[in-house]
Amino acid sequence: MIKTDALIIGAGPTGLFTAHQLKLIGLDCEVVDNLDKIGGQCIELYPDKPIYDIPAVPECTGEELTNNLIKQLKPFDIKFHLGERVDEVKKDNGNWIVKTNNGKSFSTPNVIIAGGVGSFEPRKFPPKECEKFENKSLFYSVQDKKVFEGKTVSIFGGGDSALDWAVELSKISKVNLIHRRDEFRGAQATLNKVKELNSAGKINLSTKYQLVSVNGSNKIESIDIKNDDGETKNLKTDYVLGFFGLIMQLGPIANWGLNIDKKTIEVDTEKFETNQKGIYAVGDICKYPGKLKLILSGFHEGALAARACFKLARPNEKYRFEFTTSSKTIKDRLGIKGD
Ligand SMILES: Cc1cc2nc3c(=O)[nH]c(=O)nc-3n(C[C@H](O)[C@H](O)[C@H](O)COP(=O)(O)OP(=O)(O)OC[C@H]3O[C@@H](n4cnc5c(N)ncnc54)[C@H](O)[C@@H]3O)c2cc1C
Repeated sequence: MIKTDALIIGAGPTGLFTAHQLKLIGLDCEVVDNLDKIGGQCIELYPDKPIYDIPAVPECTGEELTNNLIKQLKPFDIKFHLGERVDEVKKDNGNWIVKTNNGKSFSTPNVIIAGGVGSFEPRKFPPKECEKFENKSLFYSVQDKKVFEGKTVSIFGGGDSALDWAVELSKISKVNLIHRRDEFRGAQATLNKVKELNSAGKINLSTKYQLVSVNGSNKIESIDIKNDDGETKNLKTDYVLGFFGLIMQLGPIANWGLNIDKKTIEVDTEKFETNQKGIYAVGDICKYPGKLKLILSGFHEGALAARACFKLARPNEKYRFEFTTSSKTIKDRLGIKGD
């Protein structure tokens, strides 16, 4: 069980700045995100797009904003738990016990939900039996490509991820690329490469086909795919990869006893506290009159929620407002020497 002053759910821009605010006032925090990377929507949906309305930053991309927020956290030692979805939040003896899908547990007086539009989850294969092979021989992302070396890999999808991995894995594996349409959505240059590798016999391409079944007991031995005319093909394969994009799901947050309206959590505008004491919601996921779903609003909400956490984390101390420009204590926390 990990003990912390505050647990932040979500490593999007709001979660990152909220972590900064907590550390600045001397509280510990840990950050959990379902994605395998930091940055939320900015990294997942628009890393290369320029943003023009971050105060005092005339222009920066989603990736640059994320990198700058991470840089701002550098003086602090913040533990990120990535690839972990928070599934359960329960009260126990005055503290919140928070559990993730991979079995991590936290005990904390303060939970800050910076969950955006919910957790990003891969869109999955429809056949039910796929679940039993998931994360063993059927995956929706690639963590370590060496696993596929010398094996047969069947890749499904028509976007950039499917095409990029088909090209990449064709260097070390036997690749089947299967897509339910004739047209691909990925970059033309990669598509040209796929077609070249298909002609050279390095990628076995099947278009207008979909997965019907996965066969095998402990591990996948073959798959059956079917085309629009009802013809089926059996392909021997060791691994299956599905790249159908991400869906956003409020998911488990809906079950934590919070006041939820249209996938957002109602909060007050003093502490950004929900109807549960010690649980706050900030950023895109929170709702109050006049709420703007903008990054700058999330920064303000996180700053206030962080101050509210102080009271529960340090019940015997009084929070003292200080400017970063003039506070010796804050400068010490930032590791800045001199006045
Ligand atoms: C195309 C596009 C362009 C945009 N342009 C602008 C712009 O120009 N200016 C602007 O201000 N805003 C813009 N926005 C909006 C902006 O991106 C959002 O307001 C911002 O990302 C909200 O940040 P957040 O940290 O609240 O949530 P998010 O960025 O959504 O991050 C939330 C994180 O929480 C995680 N999470 C959720 N539930 C769980 C759970 N149970 N367990 C673990 N992790 C969980 C998610 O995986 C996600 O990483 C744009 C949005 C889009 C889609």
